[in-house]
Amino acid sequence: MRLQDKVALITGGASGIGLATVEKFVAEGAKVVVADVNAERAATVADRLNADTPDSATSFGVDVSVFAEVEAAVQHAVDVFGRLDVIFNNAGIAGGKPLLEHDPAVDYEPMIRIDQDGVYYGILAAGRQFRAQGGGGVIISTSSIYGEQAAELSFTYSAAKAAVISFTRSAAYELAQYGTRAVAITPGRVGTAIINQFSDELKATFASEQLRGTMTEPEEIANVVAFLASDEANVINGTVVHVDDGYSVFKQRLD
Ligand code: NAD
Repeated sequence: MRLQDKVALITGGASGIGLATVEKFVAEGAKVVVADVNAERAATVADRLNADTPDSATSFGVDVSVFAEVEAAVQHAVDVFGRLDVIFNNAGIAGGKPLLEHDPAVDYEPMIRIDQDGVYYGILAAGRQFRAQGGGGVIISTSSIYGEQAAELSFTYSAAKAAVISFTRSAAYELAQYGTRAVAITPGRVGTAIINQFSDELKATFASEQLRGTMTEPEEIANVVAFLASDEANVINGTVVHVDDGYSVFKQRLD
């Protein structure tokens, strides 16, 4: 129960990595806001958690690409649970086209608004709340292996995920004066809806690019996020934690 009574806002909490993290946090004693653009699914998740662990969860419909909605999600955490201790900026979309086939309105702007601006808004809104509470707080944000490298069909996604790493460094630096920590994670290939849209053949290739030769389970990422959110991780700040089953090492060795 290393997150006993901590209050966490988890975006993209209705599916995949976010959902697994919501479940892990509650199992570790936290109170969670399941925040997702799919408000209905978020509500179903919160209802299920509350049935098993009373008063452990609430849901909030949020589009992270709208700052006022992210601020409202933070306020919801405070209204329901009295404070905020952790934000997991995890909501995101993936996909992409070859660069020269881009329509900026379709292939650039939405991705940047959700995967990049959404994380900035989460850092800003949560950071202000942490300061108002007298300091402390942990900001964890989901980047990607693609945030550190160029990849096929990944021009915009890589840019947004690189920004997440940069935001994390700068947030750690600027918010240290308030006792706030910031960490980015870079998942490799995780078996969630984002990746299940691809063909079996491509998924097999993805799995073969990790050292265990399998897709990572969302729960395996959630375990690391719970550790990073806990006081046991107090010296991990401003950096990237690779949760990629050796993908980055493996690829570098091959290249
Ligand atoms: P997922 O599709 O299962 O979950 C993403 C969740 O984000 C969904 O519930 C979705 O409704 C929500 N969401 C999408 N747009 C939103 C918005 N504008 N506002 C609020 N919520 C929104 O996928 P996942 O794999 O769990 O993805 C979580 C994060 O992990 C994403 O940031 C993704 O880029 C990142 N990631 C995933 C992988 C992978 O292999 N699955 C690898 C690296 C990084």
